[in-house]
Amino acid sequence: MTISNYNFAGKKAIVRVDFNVPLDENGHITDDTRIRGALPTLKHILDNGGALIIMSHMGKPKGKPAAKYSLSQIVDAVSAALGREVKFAQDCAKAKAQADALQAGEVLMLENLRFYGEEEGKPVGIEKEDPAYEEAKKAMKASQKEFAKTLASYADCYVNDAFGTAHRKHASTAVIADYFDADNKMLGFLMEKECEAVDNILKNIRRPFTAIMGGSKVSTKIGIIENLMDKVDNLILCGGMTYTFAKARGGEVGKSICEEDKLDMAMDIMAKAKAKGVNLVLATDAIVADNFANDANTQVCDVMAIPQGWEGVDAGPESRKAFAAAIQGAKTILWNGPAGVFEFDNFAAGSKAIAEAIAAATQEGAYSLIGGGDSVACINKFGFADQVSYISTGGGALLEAIEGKVLPGVAAIKGE
Ligand code: AMP
Repeated sequence: MTISNYNFAGKKAIVRVDFNVPLDENGHITDDTRIRGALPTLKHILDNGGALIIMSHMGKPKGKPAAKYSLSQIVDAVSAALGREVKFAQDCAKAKAQADALQAGEVLMLENLRFYGEEEGKPVGIEKEDPAYEEAKKAMKASQKEFAKTLASYADCYVNDAFGTAHRKHASTAVIADYFDADNKMLGFLMEKECEAVDNILKNIRRPFTAIMGGSKVSTKIGIIENLMDKVDNLILCGGMTYTFAKARGGEVGKSICEEDKLDMAMDIMAKAKAKGVNLVLATDAIVADNFANDANTQVCDVMAIPQGWEGVDAGPESRKAFAAAIQGAKTILWNGPAGVFEFDNFAAGSKAIAEAIAAATQEGAYSLIGGGDSVACINKFGFADQVSYISTGGGALLEAIEGKVLPGVAAIKGE
């Protein structure tokens, strides 16, 4: 079933959203992007004559109630965003009566799902090393099903719009779907958009396809790099991993971030790129600093010859040109991870050059997807957010999807 085709009139919909929003010390929301992201789905259900039961997690309460993770703190904000009263169920597993009483157009929000260990399905209060852990895990899996069944009993249909947790097989993100037939479960609009974005770079690729992978370490990106290797025409590897590649090729990298135990991995990536005809673009020069601080002394250096006591903190001018050239003319673009320590303004030029090139290529008709934490912060910092095709809301979930992994939250609904 799709959300656009479903008739919500007279129905109760239980909707998993990702309202894990950052709060300040007074419990005020500091960034409401995630609430805004779910609004199209929530409003559609209400406008269509349905009643809403909203459920989410917040933070990591580890299976126990904790005031600082209570979703009661955001009831007013959700109410303001929806323009109507939002009732609150203080115990997500004991909300049946409140759910039953809901009328069309009414909204009930459940307390933090992770106040129950059953949500994540992990045993609470017992360490992995404990010999009794496996037994406890089995028991928890059984009670996770019961928990999911209870949540399912509140509603006629289930909608998953929480892309941020789609890579988790939790009670509310996946297990619950077993209690609805195919005609009564569906992805929300945000999830649909995210899945479409992933399809655009993994399946419906328009060529040439340029992927830009940055960030600090090659080891955390290897799964994605390997999956992309079969799909891209140009692969830009930048950021901290530059220096692992330089070292692998026999370079001197000073005190740059470098994964000494991943030199073989770097060589292997270079060999694979060659074998598959992928144009691998590595930085040739770097901005190096004598200190990890914005006001450090800097110089431009060959990535293969960084002096002792200096570290690479950004892509140099030659590299920026090479990156821009590989982005220009691309018809599909994926960017994950900054080209330097962009949090410091003086080391942000490489990341900015990439953002500019992506914006220009998008203007020329390319499809550009930005995702995975820091590159989203980058694109926002440089003011290009409205000049790219899509900015993913899911960090870990997007990365797993790009690695080619099946997301349990999507599979539970689409049956893939
Ligand atoms: P990741 O979480 O792996 O995507 O890495 C993002 C982080 O990598 C950002 O906080 C950047 O500051 C950092 N980063 C990028 N380039 C470098 C570099 N040359 N040296 C140290 N950290 C870097």
